[in-house]
Amino acid sequence: MRLSTLFTKTNKEAPKDELSINARILMQAGFIDKVSAGVYTYLPLGFRVLKKIENIIREEMDKVGGQEVLMPALTPKKVWEQTGRWENFDALFKLIGSDSREYALGATHEEIVVPLAQQHIFSYKDLPVYIYQIQDKFRNEKRAKSGMLRGREFIMKDMYSFHADEADLDIFYKEMQKVYFKIFERCGILDSTYLTFASGGAFSKYSHEFQTVTAAGEDDIYICGDCKIAVNEEIIKDLNNKCPNCENKHLNKEKAIEVGNIFKLKDRFSAPFGYEYIDEAGNKKPIIMGCYGIGLGRLMGTIAEVHHDDKGLIWPKEITPYTVHLIEVNAKDVEENNKIKLTAEKLYKDLQESGIGVLFDDRGDNVSTGAKFADADLIGCPMRLVVSERTLNNDSVEIKKRNEEEKELVKLKHIARDVK
Ligand code: ATP
Ligand code: MG
Repeated sequence: MRLSTLFTKTNKEAPKDELSINARILMQAGFIDKVSAGVYTYLPLGFRVLKKIENIIREEMDKVGGQEVLMPALTPKKVWEQTGRWENFDALFKLIGSDSREYALGATHEEIVVPLAQQHIFSYKDLPVYIYQIQDKFRNEKRAKSGMLRGREFIMKDMYSFHADEADLDIFYKEMQKVYFKIFERCGILDSTYLTFASGGAFSKYSHEFQTVTAAGEDDIYICGDCKIAVNEEIIKDLNNKCPNCENKHLNKEKAIEVGNIFKLKDRFSAPFGYEYIDEAGNKKPIIMGCYGIGLGRLMGTIAEVHHDDKGLIWPKEITPYTVHLIEVNAKDVEENNKIKLTAEKLYKDLQESGIGVLFDDRGDNVSTGAKFADADLIGCPMRLVVSERTLNNDSVEIKKRNEEEKELVKLKHIARDVK
């Protein structure tokens, strides 16, 4: 992508009316646009990050046998009444259709996926099944002050698992914990993310959250340094202030963001729909379920909170919009300037041909060199390449990693190999 044609612009200053760090920095760098509190547009740079996160999640869900669907956002009142959540789900957005019927904008999709599964999965031979989607959710959140962390409209990956019994659910539930850590590893937040024991609601002792430690977090968690697991403040008293794994009493309290959440639903949602399957002996048995959520926008916001400095974003390599930020530094001398331009253009082409994503600052001398470097830091691609009179005098390009101070000259002919 050429910066000369990218329709969005960076801003010299962060937006004043935005409180959260993640939204301030993502807006300033041109990744997102705020439409209203908790409602954002993904701009080209942000959309690329979103798609990368989405692909990582999709790959990992497909690997465990997930089957992807896309359920509607517009959902009829009837199914929500059936589970009692028309009245009990606080943040449900409700609306009336031109047929005078009532609808809810989907805040979660148990009410849709259960009647769906019921039409296809009847027998022990069909089980287990894992259905997921990556889709827009709507919640009328009271506090929408945390930018991408708490949207009123937000994208979620929600998976629902269907099992013959609790033992099978337990096995899959454990496996999903590993899958989630794999996702957070690929997104660059493994080191600061903890498996966290949280309230399980009425049907299960615990649920598990994946909490990423950062000052922007809305939750308080207590971390056991020995086990690398944590407990959400909401249940720490029930556990007598001890680690549920090793009974350690010396837990560190930290602010954290819940980037994911997994839950044993058991028959909480299958029972209201009278959903049973036929077991091997021909008897009817309740379907046992689990659900597994990750907020994609919240994940992106969390990564921005964890990986930035006072100059801008610092993207982990698997989810960066582009791997390389290529800058041409213009020279006064016309001939020299042409040489710089030709070299930069060729580099842009060659790197892309070897499969490397490049954001090319080809804005010429309309933009000062200082502004180009500041934009590179703000946008936060992991590697910056500079072509200038000085580097060309050495048949070289300057390479600098976003998270390191050190600069290095690399010969032009080796550049694709070195970047890789
Ligand atoms: P929270 O406790 O933060 O309100 P939740 O427990 O209600 O979230 P779930 O219903 O389990 O969240 O949703 C699954 C995942 O979706 C969460 O772990 C989070 O990553 C994401 N998520 C939930 N609510 C929002 C929101 N308002 N904006 C962005 N992401 C969200
Ligand atoms: Mg929660």
